[in-house]
Amino acid sequence: MQRNKLLFATALTILLTLGFVATSVIGYFVAEDSLEKQIAEETLPLTSDNIFSEIERDLLRSILISSLMAHDTFVRDWLVEGEEDQEAILRYLAEIQQKYDTTTAFFVSEASRRYYHPDGVLRTVSRANPADAWYFRVRQMNEPFEINIDHDTAEPTRLSIFVNYRVQDEAGDYIGVTGIGLAVETVAGLIESYQRRYGRSIYFMNREGEITLRGSGYDGPKSIQAQPGLARHATRILTSPSTEFAYERPGDGTIYVNTRLIPELDWFLVVEQREATANARLLNTLIVNILLALGVTALVLLTGGWTLRNYQRRLETMATTDRLTGAGNREALEVLFEQAQRLGRRHDQPVSIINLDIDHFKGINDRHGHQAGDRVLRELVNTVSSQIREVDTLCRWGGDEFLILLQDTDADDARLTAERIREAVARRNRLPESEEALTVSQGVAQCRAGESLDSLINRADQALYQAKRNGRNRVAIAESTSP
Ligand code: GH3
Ligand code: MG
Repeated sequence: MQRNKLLFATALTILLTLGFVATSVIGYFVAEDSLEKQIAEETLPLTSDNIFSEIERDLLRSILISSLMAHDTFVRDWLVEGEEDQEAILRYLAEIQQKYDTTTAFFVSEASRRYYHPDGVLRTVSRANPADAWYFRVRQMNEPFEINIDHDTAEPTRLSIFVNYRVQDEAGDYIGVTGIGLAVETVAGLIESYQRRYGRSIYFMNREGEITLRGSGYDGPKSIQAQPGLARHATRILTSPSTEFAYERPGDGTIYVNTRLIPELDWFLVVEQREATANARLLNTLIVNILLALGVTALVLLTGGWTLRNYQRRLETMATTDRLTGAGNREALEVLFEQAQRLGRRHDQPVSIINLDIDHFKGINDRHGHQAGDRVLRELVNTVSSQIREVDTLCRWGGDEFLILLQDTDADDARLTAERIREAVARRNRLPESEEALTVSQGVAQCRAGESLDSLINRADQALYQAKRNGRNRVAIAESTSP
């Protein structure tokens, strides 16, 4: 029985755990898969789009301001009139810079090659100076403007995004370049805020793959060719307007990447996200799920075990109890007798038995019916139970015959108990529809060393027979010494 229970519990545990864990793990992988898809197909492109459009917005605004400057009649007239009043153009540039909150505003005259800036005439541009190459490029250019990332002439340590706009006179002849500069920091600030908000790594690189602009969180190498795992994709990134893929970075696991070219800057915007960051939450959920599953398994086992134990107890009770009276039955007596005998041997204590039989019970049945007889039996059991100890056992042997097993009791004590029972029954129990007392006869026998139950009952039966013969409502004792 114990072995079966253990087997059942083990099988149940394995089944439940397997079931729960399988569901959790499958759920985890499904969620992971859709998360990967979401990162690759939605999250990163969205971030990239957002940054791209914010940069575009800033650039468009700058282009517009530069265009206004290039078409300003004041600038043209002042130039055509021979750059006389320098203060006037400096004031104009200072006003633009202040009004539009740009890092710089400038004008270079084709006639004099002077570089005008709110701080004054900084210098003249010349072909000999490599830093002025941009001017000669714009001079030759067909497009009305270009966007260029360069060090600021006014502040050479600062990298700025310049809008260089060609200025033409009314006849369409080239007469200079004007424009404004945006601090690259504005874009860097954008990167920072995105990185902080979404835990993504964002940076820019030029057409050669060199990292040109990055947030403070970026700790990778100076070019993508030097980034293990990413180098393999370098050619594809640098030749396509946009790409999305995942790569394995040693120590960091899977990295999802989205790249796109920003034509105005001629830079690539790169947005990266580590799978681990997003997966940590999923993994947590998996662990909580599994713990919950184990908890539920334990709960099922506990309630299952409890129910089984209860059920088993009920079965045991049913198997050892007399249905009519609630006293023990023959099977119970056999088991309990062996126990009592063992206990008696160990502690050197006597065990006795009383054989009790109702006097003239048949007559009760005959006169008042079987049901009245049943009631008498039940009432008798109540009285007898109240007269014996917890350790003693009352069993119905059959019909109106009962056996009482008494532990640590010799024949004399058993006789006293039997007398007490006899008196209690005569005092409490009445015949049906009558004031007449119910009486019982009892035979007492003390168990001999190693005696069988049959033999003991037999001797008690003899004593009972004696009691009946002697006039009923009395107790008789069997021979107590060994033969
Ligand atoms: P005695 O004093 O010699 O014992 O006479 P008695 O009439 O009690 O004789 P006996 O013990 O032989 O009678 C037992 C009767 O008990 C016979 C049977 O009809 C009745 N009996 C047996 N089992 C049940 C039972 O479950 N319910 C009821 N109501 N009667 C039962
Ligand atoms: Mg009888």
